[in-house]
Amino acid sequence: MERSDVVARDKRYVWHPYTAMDEYIARTDPLVVVDAEGPYLRDADGTRYLDANGSWWVSTLGHRHPRLVRALVEQAGRFPHASLAGVTHEPAALLAEELAALAPGAGRADVPEAARLSRVFYSDNGSTAVEVAIKMAAQYWAQNGRPQRTRFITLSGAFHGETIGATSVGGVEVFRDVFGPLLFDVVHVPSPAEPSGWERAFAQVESALREHPDEIAAVIVEPLIQGAAGMQMYAPAFLRAVREATRAVDTFLIADEVFTGLGRTGARFACDLADVVPDLLCLAKALSGGILPFGATLATERIFTGFGGGPERALYYGHSYCGNPLGSAVAREVLAVYRDEDVLGQVARKAPRVRAAFERMAETIPGVTRPRALGMVGAVDLGGGGYLARAGWRVYEAARRRGLYLRPLGDTVYVAPALNIPDAALEELLGGVEESLREVARGSS
Ligand SMILES: *Cc1c(COP(=O)(O)O)cnc(C)c1O
Repeated sequence: MERSDVVARDKRYVWHPYTAMDEYIARTDPLVVVDAEGPYLRDADGTRYLDANGSWWVSTLGHRHPRLVRALVEQAGRFPHASLAGVTHEPAALLAEELAALAPGAGRADVPEAARLSRVFYSDNGSTAVEVAIKMAAQYWAQNGRPQRTRFITLSGAFHGETIGATSVGGVEVFRDVFGPLLFDVVHVPSPAEPSGWERAFAQVESALREHPDEIAAVIVEPLIQGAAGMQMYAPAFLRAVREATRAVDTFLIADEVFTGLGRTGARFACDLADVVPDLLCLAKALSGGILPFGATLATERIFTGFGGGPERALYYGHSYCGNPLGSAVAREVLAVYRDEDVLGQVARKAPRVRAAFERMAETIPGVTRPRALGMVGAVDLGGGGYLARAGWRVYEAARRRGLYLRPLGDTVYVAPALNIPDAALEELLGGVEESLREVARGSS
């Protein structure tokens, strides 16, 4: 089919996510992907694009990694699906064991058995992984002596997904305002990533916990990087302080590592960088390496035990595709590739390049501010008025002319590429971001 025929049908029938559709239909010439490999996407017109964000943060091992494709095909040839209803299978059972062995705190003598993340509940994506965590926390307290604990503390700028529960604990106003009347009540505190530091956010977490210890079911955070808010980064000290404060009143900490998990920040989990073991840990995105949707919520032995003692105490929650064998098999292969290709070691080697490049951009390009980096994530803001005010999309277009797919978050320009991106492609990526910013800063776009 001709490229233009695909675009015509797309514009007639497809409703795109996070997209003002009338503007898209009138003006956007979308990429029409026909092929993808490693860090690259190829358009039907033959142009090759470097994928600066791993296709919305999922392809951490690049596109079409041969080992992941093989794991998918082999499992599909055996059985692509079986429910977890009175049924189990090797991929789901082994993956759960492997995740429990890798989780923050695993195998550490100073972490009591009850506090280990040793139970795995499967779902379909990041939003559901969060939804499960919310329900686990609420039901745990409802049936274990603290029924008033129904409120969650969340951070301003937080993003936890799209379901109504996940939206309720979100803190990005434009995503939640319109649904306001449908959302449950939460305690909002400032973002720890504010330039003035994390202390103000923590003081409010602490006072909410101290004033309402009987009401707070959990504090939910994106550890160290608030991704959707524009790669807002904060100090591990905040996470540690929140962990101590939740312990002090014996309530839960939910770590949403859907974005940060599996090497993005340089550690296996961002929680590891803060030496924190949460009570619930949400995973998706990188977990299935951009091959298919898949999610998991890890819970402590204590939480799991709180659902025993009679059928009326069970967690009545599940999705059709819970523990899907394809997803489980691919996720196991993802973990194996991380091990065999030393993906964390690769990130450690490449991360200083990412940081240095973004620092240089902010130093040398007028209007480019707030350079920040952690692991394979690098970002700057466009500000200070002039040509760069509200110029994220002009940077997108300048980048596209250079063969770079660089989707901004408002006025934040960032990269979050495949963690195994080859060195030459990483140089091409960072150089392309810099040139695109320079071009727009000169006002010559
Ligand atoms: C993307 C994301 C989600 C939602 O995941 P989906 O798979 O898109 O539902 C939740 N939390 C965080 C931190 C995310 O980045």
